[in-house]
Amino acid sequence: MTVVRVRVVVDGVVQGVGFRPHAHRLATELGLDGFVGNGSGSVFAEVEGAEDAVAQFLERLELDAPPLARVTGLHAERLPPSSADASASSLQGTRGGFAIVASQADRGAQRFVAPDAAVCPRCLAELFDPGNRRYRHPFISCSDCGPRFTIVRSLPYDRATTSMAGFELCAACRVEYGDPRDRRFHAETISCSDCGPQLSFEDASGVVLTGSDRAIAACQAVIRDGGIVAVKGLGGYHLVCDARDDDALARLRRAKHRPHKPVAVMVRDVDDARSLAEL
Ligand SMILES: [Zn+2]
Ligand SMILES: [Zn+2]
Repeated sequence: MTVVRVRVVVDGVVQGVGFRPHAHRLATELGLDGFVGNGSGSVFAEVEGAEDAVAQFLERLELDAPPLARVTGLHAERLPPSSADASASSLQGTRGGFAIVASQADRGAQRFVAPDAAVCPRCLAELFDPGNRRYRHPFISCSDCGPRFTIVRSLPYDRATTSMAGFELCAACRVEYGDPRDRRFHAETISCSDCGPQLSFEDASGVVLTGSDRAIAACQAVIRDGGIVAVKGLGGYHLVCDARDDDALARLRRAKHRPHKPVAVMVRDVDDARSLAEL
């Protein structure tokens, strides 16, 4: 068996999209040793193993990339096998396995930050599953979804460089973060209701209610009573009122200086939308 060792640098939208876990799974599946990490804007990896397995790794690294990733360049460089290279200290400590290593700032890299992504179908299913530990957790996310651009402060992309830095993972979240078979493996934005941010509600007089359930209940009450709620989302605030309440809508239009322009209407699902409009 010919053993080869390759260093690869991947450019594009490759941070915050589950690319390192993807490389980890792929290398493990193919029986390769090595490591992967985030550079300033790229992902770097080194793999060593059977020649055909390394070739497959390089091919599938881009081909099977996670849904949010956009690979714009993949540069592979062949290195001498670590057994013949006294300077191959980088592979030391990862012999017999594949590791996600600490991020390294590098210069000259192109920097792309992944955009925020809407909640994915799997997170959505968990959100409404009473048996799931993230049931009704408003900040649910995984490698395939959640905020990125809005919360990142600098690159390389790590939890410490996002606004999630202040929320230390609880034991259960840490297990998911460290499990290569979990879709939250090394997902930097994850949290649960035990360790993540909570919603809060502030009324017009400045009184603050904390706790996600209480905040949502307070919003519902305001909307039901014909009021307007400013909901802070990822990209800013949106103003919400009951679209069936003409007085509330008139106040909203006055507040937004939008006497005629159409406003967006939220409905539960497509069937509800059909009851209001022709689709
Ligand atoms: Zn998700
Ligand atoms: Zn947690």
